[in-house]
Amino acid sequence: MRARGPPARYPPGATDHDQARLGTAGARHAAGARTSRVPLAWEDGGVRNLAALPKAHVHVHFTGSLSVPSLVDMARSAGVRLPENLTDNVAMQVPADQRGWFRFQRAYDAARAVVRSEEAMRRIVREAARADRAEGSRRLEIQIDPTSYAPYVGGITPALEIVLDEAKAATRETGVEVGVIVAASRTRHPLDARTLARLAARYAGDAPGDVVGFGLSNDERRGRTAEFEAAFRIARRAGLRSVPHGGELLGPEHLREVITHLNPDRLGHGVRAAEDRDLVAEIVERGIALEVCPASNVSLGVFRENEDVPLRTLFDAGALIALGADDPLLFLARLNDQYDIARRQGFSDSELAELARRSIRASFASASSKRAWLAEVDAWLEADN
Ligand SMILES: [Zn+2]
Repeated sequence: MRARGPPARYPPGATDHDQARLGTAGARHAAGARTSRVPLAWEDGGVRNLAALPKAHVHVHFTGSLSVPSLVDMARSAGVRLPENLTDNVAMQVPADQRGWFRFQRAYDAARAVVRSEEAMRRIVREAARADRAEGSRRLEIQIDPTSYAPYVGGITPALEIVLDEAKAATRETGVEVGVIVAASRTRHPLDARTLARLAARYAGDAPGDVVGFGLSNDERRGRTAEFEAAFRIARRAGLRSVPHGGELLGPEHLREVITHLNPDRLGHGVRAAEDRDLVAEIVERGIALEVCPASNVSLGVFRENEDVPLRTLFDAGALIALGADDPLLFLARLNDQYDIARRQGFSDSELAELARRSIRASFASASSKRAWLAEVDAWLEADN
C-alpha cells in the first residue's frame, strides 16, 4: 500500500492480532481514521468474524484475482520477468485520469503476459475459488475476456472452455459455486464484442461452469456505449444477463447511457450513481444491482480514502450492493477487506449481514442456493461470536 503523508498507524491500543485481522484495507482505513472518527469495531468487543459471513462475490477479473506469490511463481515457470510494481507489495495508486488508467492497464497487461498455458489458466480459476472459500463466499462469478489468452491455447473457444471446465472442477473441490462472465473490451471494435457475445451465448446456462453473464470492461471513456448494444442483444437473446462496467470513472450522465443502451442487470461499479439522487432511485426501482469495489475505487483515484466511498448513501437508498474485489492482485485487498471497509465506515454487524444478503440476491445463483445462503447469513448474525 502506498502511504499518503505519514505512514499508516493502527489506533492506540490495537494489538498485533487486530493488525492481522485488519488486513491491508484496514490499515489504509486506520490511516484515514485519524481525521474522521468512526466507531471502531474492536472497541465494541465481540465483533463477528467476516470470513464466516456467507456472501457472494460477483466482481473480480480473471488474472486480477491472483495473489502476488502465485503470480511470481507463474512468472518463474513461464520465464517472464515481472515489473517491480507488481511484486513490491504496494497497492497500486493512480489518479483517476487517462494516464492513471494507462498505468493500471499496463500493470494488468504485464501480469496477463504470464498466463501462457492451459495449466496457468486452470490455476487462476482454482485459486480464485479457494480464496473465495476462505473468505466465506458461496458464489464466485469470475469475469474474463478470453481474447487475451487465446493465442496460447489455440483460440478463444478453447480459452473459454478451459475456464468453464475448471470452474466446474473448482465448484466440486471447494463447494463455492463458480459461474463465468464473458466480458468484451471498450478498447476493441464493437464487432469483436459481437463475436464474444456469440461465443458466450453457446455456453449460456445457470449451472456452475456455465456462462452466466456478458460484460463490457476497460476504460469507460473509450468507445461509444451505443455501439455495443448489438452485442448485448445477442447475449440477452441467449439468456445471458447484462453486466457492463459503468459509473466508476464517469458519472451519472454516462451511467444513464449505459442503462439506456445495455439494459444492465448489474452495473460493474455504478458507485458514482450516488452523485445523483434521482438516478439512485431509478436504479433501485429497476432492481439493477451495483458491484461496488471500494478498495479498487481508492486505488484508481475515484475516491481519496476508503471512508469517501459512498456505501452508506447507496445502502440507505436500498441499492442492491454486492461488494467485490475487482483486481486483488493490483489493489492488494481481497473480498473481506471490502466488508472491513464498510465496517470501518460504521456498518454494524446486522448491516454487514444485510450487505452480504444483497450480494447473494445480486448473484445469478439459483433461487434454492440463494435461500440456503440467506439462511446461513441469519445464522451468522444470530450466533454468539
Ligand atoms: Zn472491474
